[in-house]
Formats: sequence, structure tokens, C-alpha cells
Amino acid sequence: MPLAADKLRAWAEVDLGQLERNLANIRAALPPHLRYVAVIKADAYGHGSTAVATRLMRAGADLFAVANIDEAAALREIGSGWPILILSAVLPSERPEVFAHNVTPTVSSAEEVRAFAEEARARGHALGVHLKIDTGMGRLGIWHGEAGALAAEIRSHKSLRLEGVYTHFACADSDAAVTAEQRGRFLHCLNEAGLARTPGLLIHADNSAGIDSFPRGGPFNGARVGLLQFGVRPYAGSFLADVAVEPVFSFHARVALVKSLPAGTPVSYGHTHTLRRTSRLAILAAGYADGIPTRMSNRGRVLIHGYECPVVGRVTMDQTLVDVTDLPRSAVPGDTATLIGVQEGARLTVEDFAAAADQIPWETFCSISKRVRRIYRIDSAL
Ligand SMILES: *Cc1c(COP(=O)(O)O)cnc(C)c1O
Repeated sequence: MPLAADKLRAWAEVDLGQLERNLANIRAALPPHLRYVAVIKADAYGHGSTAVATRLMRAGADLFAVANIDEAAALREIGSGWPILILSAVLPSERPEVFAHNVTPTVSSAEEVRAFAEEARARGHALGVHLKIDTGMGRLGIWHGEAGALAAEIRSHKSLRLEGVYTHFACADSDAAVTAEQRGRFLHCLNEAGLARTPGLLIHADNSAGIDSFPRGGPFNGARVGLLQFGVRPYAGSFLADVAVEPVFSFHARVALVKSLPAGTPVSYGHTHTLRRTSRLAILAAGYADGIPTRMSNRGRVLIHGYECPVVGRVTMDQTLVDVTDLPRSAVPGDTATLIGVQEGARLTVEDFAAAADQIPWETFCSISKRVRRIYRIDSAL
């Protein structure tokens, strides 16, 4: 362990230098006019939004996107001048805070437009907004057939400034035809509303997976990058395989106890596993309260001494049992078990973890709990 982590029971390492290199490499793969919207919702996908945002500010992000007003307010604390876009719908009760923190809401309906216009007029200060268009996600956004009228309404309010227009892909990692159809609908709306070449207007559609099909021509001048900047490709076989990104995050737990039990012994709650041979078990100081879901019972794998060892029995709140019988050198208390990351040349990826947990990688990052201390490697990218 390069870090003095030997007192920690469960911890994650976040490599900020790697984060910086990832951003640089993603940028280099995209057209130079593109504005980089760093998506750091949900505590920067569990990596820790303060450290991540601070590094991304230095590394060349252009603006930030978060889920809600609380995340926006926290981010505002560390960077007063940065544009911050709120991706989710702002609740009526939260609208005053949009002004208080000087952040940019997403609007999807005439009701929101009118309410923000009214509030901005009353305060005597114009509010920038991004209009979201639903081109087939069926979640936020004004339905594409009605988008032109809402864009016109926004522009009719002197108290509002239309700073961005965007859409969101439903199947960017699974169905290129759906993505192409959504992109086509979006472009149609832009053209119809006369927005395609509006100077200063941020036009964005692509998340990490969408970037695969980012068109070099056309009006797009922004992309919203989440997962990819953390070094995880949104799906196997993406063209992004050519972009040199590496994982930023690793997840570890300490071996707290090692013991031998006789063949035929059932272990952990519910006795879901019975030892077939005399076995050595390592008891890890982390369980589902740390983000190792019970779905990994009898399914997960961890690295100890660089070897993959299976999780046996049910994962419990604070502890997880691992079979270490086959290790050439016995595990001892204090050893590191790696759940996500590299150990002595062996690697378990977040995709491996997610597959054993029946999760998607985004969800895994969000599920590793607060009890898991984040430790930052602060080396510069160079
Ligand atoms: C989370 C999110 C993104 C980023 O998605 P990734 O797949 O992590 O790149 C982009 N746009 C919106 C609207 C989002 O909610």
C-alpha cells in the first residue's frame, strides 16, 4: 500500500492524477471546440465531489453538472465563478435557492419557465436556463414535438436567458439506432426553433456512451461526461476503447481474522454455504454497510496476496467471509483484501464487482458507503 492506510478497516483510494489524465485524454479525442461538462452528481459517483471537482477545475473542465440544489450549493462553496447545471427538475420550494447559489436550472415545462421568469423578474436579475428536450428517454424534458414553442416562450421572457439546449439518450450503450433517432429528433427541433447556430448557446446530448457517436460536424458543442472520466467505459467494445482512460477508484478492506474450520461446517447467516473441505477463512472488516451487497454472498471475489479468493456464505453488515485455503502463503490479520483494483498484478474491475452484485458500475460507485474512507492520491498528472 503506498498510503498509510493500515489503520483503516475499509477504504477507497481515489487517484486524482489519473482523473486529470483521463480528462486530458477524453478532451484530446474530441473536437477542440467542445465544452466539457463534468458530471459529478452523487458525490462525484462516490469518489468525493470536493476533491474531484477541485482537480477537474484545474484539469480543464468547462462546467459542472450535478443532480440537485444541495449538490450545487456544496460545489459553489469551492468554486465561485463556475457554471453549475442542475440536471434534475428543481422543486418549486427550491427555486429561490437557484438564485441564492447562482446556478443554472434545467427546465422541461411551461410551468417551470413561467415560475422562474416570474421569480427572476421579481429579483430584477436575469436567470440563465438550459432547456431539456425529451427525444425518447421519456423522463425529463419537454416532448420534442412541443419543444419549439417552449424555446420561443423562454426567449420571450426578458428575465430568462436561454444558455443551453440538451437531450439525453436512453440507449447510448445498447442501441445505436435509438441513439441515431434521438439525435435526429433533437437536430430537427434545433433547426425548427432556429437554435442550431445561436452564438454562445451550449448544445449537448452526449453522455459517456453517446460520445461514441459524437458527430464532428453539426451544432453540438458540449458533452456531459460522467463515468468515462473515472476511467470506466460505459460498455464493452466501445470506440472509446481507443481513448486512454484508467480507473481512478479502488476499494479495499482489511483482513481482521483468519481461522480454520473443519469440512462440513456451514458458515454465516442462514448457513447458505457448507465447507466441503477443511478450510481457512479470512473475515474481512467490511460488509453490506460498506457497500458489499448481500447479492455477492457465495458469488463475489476479492484479491488477497494477488490471488482471487471467493466470498463464502452470506455477506453480513460489517463482515464478509472469504475462503483463503488455496493461498500459497497464509493470509494474516492486517492483510489487504482488494474488492476493486489492482493487487500484485491481478485486477478486479468495477465491472467485475458490478456483475457479481447484479449492479451496473454507476450503481456500484454510488453504493460504496460513507463508512468507507476515501483516501486521495494527489500526485499531479504530469
Ligand atoms: C448522469 C448523467 C450524465 C452522465 O452519464 P455517464 O454515463 O456517467 O457519462 C449525462 N447526462 C445526464 C442528464 C445525466 O443524468
